[in-house]
Amino acid sequence: MPVPPTVLPPSRQHRPPFQVLRFARAPLVQPALERLLSSADRRAHVAHDPVELVHRQRDPLDQEIVGLVASAVAYGRVDLFKPRLARLVDALGPEPARFARSATPAELLERTAGFAYRMTGPAEVSALLYCAASIQQRFGSLGALAQTCLTASSAGWREALDRFVATLWKHDLRPFVGQIRPTRRLLHLVASPGGQSACKRLNLFARWMVRPADGVDLGLWPVAPSLLVIPLDTHVHRIARFLGLTRRTDLSWKTAEEITARLRHLDPDDPVKFDFALSHLGISGDCPAHRDAEKCARCPLRPICRMWDRPANSARRSGV
Ligand code: SF4
Repeated sequence: MPVPPTVLPPSRQHRPPFQVLRFARAPLVQPALERLLSSADRRAHVAHDPVELVHRQRDPLDQEIVGLVASAVAYGRVDLFKPRLARLVDALGPEPARFARSATPAELLERTAGFAYRMTGPAEVSALLYCAASIQQRFGSLGALAQTCLTASSAGWREALDRFVATLWKHDLRPFVGQIRPTRRLLHLVASPGGQSACKRLNLFARWMVRPADGVDLGLWPVAPSLLVIPLDTHVHRIARFLGLTRRTDLSWKTAEEITARLRHLDPDDPVKFDFALSHLGISGDCPAHRDAEKCARCPLRPICRMWDRPANSARRSGV
C-alpha cells in the first residue's frame, strides 16, 4: 500500500529551517511583538510588579533608591516578596533616600528590623540602603555614578555595570554583616555582570531607570536605552526560545545578550522595550509552558511561536 505524503499544517508549510528563520522571520516577529505590546494591560501588570513601589515615590532620588532595593529583592514569587517590600518602604518613611543618607547604621538596622524574605534580612537591606545612600551623597545620584562608569568603560555597558556594582559594594560593611567586604548574600542581591550570571535584577533596575517614561519604566538616567541588556528570567527565556530568539538553554549573560541582539534588529534604539510585556505574558500564566488551545488562541505571538507550530508530542520531547 503506498504511503500517503506527509501533510504539514498550513502554518508550517513553506517555512525555512530554524537557522534561517532567525533573520527571515524578523518581518513577522516585529508586528507580533508590537501587537503584544499594544494589547498588554500595563496598568494591571504594574499592579503585580515591583516597579509599582517605585511609582509610589515622587522624588527621583527616592525612586532610584527604592528601585534598587525593590529590584534586588525581586527573586521568587512576586506575591510573596512585594508585600514585604511595601512594608519595608513604608518603614523608611516619606523620604526614603533622605532618611538613608542621614541615618546611622544602627538606625537603618532598626527601621528594617521587620524585613525577612528568604535569604534577605535586615542586615542585607540596610547594607544596600547604606551603600546606595553613600553613592548618592558622593555622586549626586545613582544615575550619575552609572554615567561616570559608562564614560570610564571602553568595553561598553557590561563593563560599566561591573564598575557600578564594584563601586556600590566598596564600603565598610562591618556594622551590617560583620565584615568589610560584601557577603555572598549581598552579592546575590546585586550581582556583578563580570561573571556568567544573567544579572536579571540588575538589568531590570537599569531598565526601570534608563528606558523612557512609559507608565512602567521611568527614564531617570542619562544613558541610551540602546545599551540595555534584557532582564532574563525564566519566563522571558522560555518565550524567547518559542520565538526563535535564542536556542541557548542556560540563563546566562551570554543568552541575555543573544536575545537582546535579536531584538536590536527590530529596534536598535530600544531593544528591551518588549521585556515588560514578554515577562508578564509568562508571570500572568497567559503563556503556559506547553501548547494550550485556549490560551494560545488569544496570544498575539501565535503566528511566530515555534511551540504552537509543533505537534504536541514533539514539543514536549524537545523541550522547546
Ligand atoms: S502561542 Fe502559546 S505557547 Fe506560544 S507564546 Fe503564545 S501563549 Fe505561549
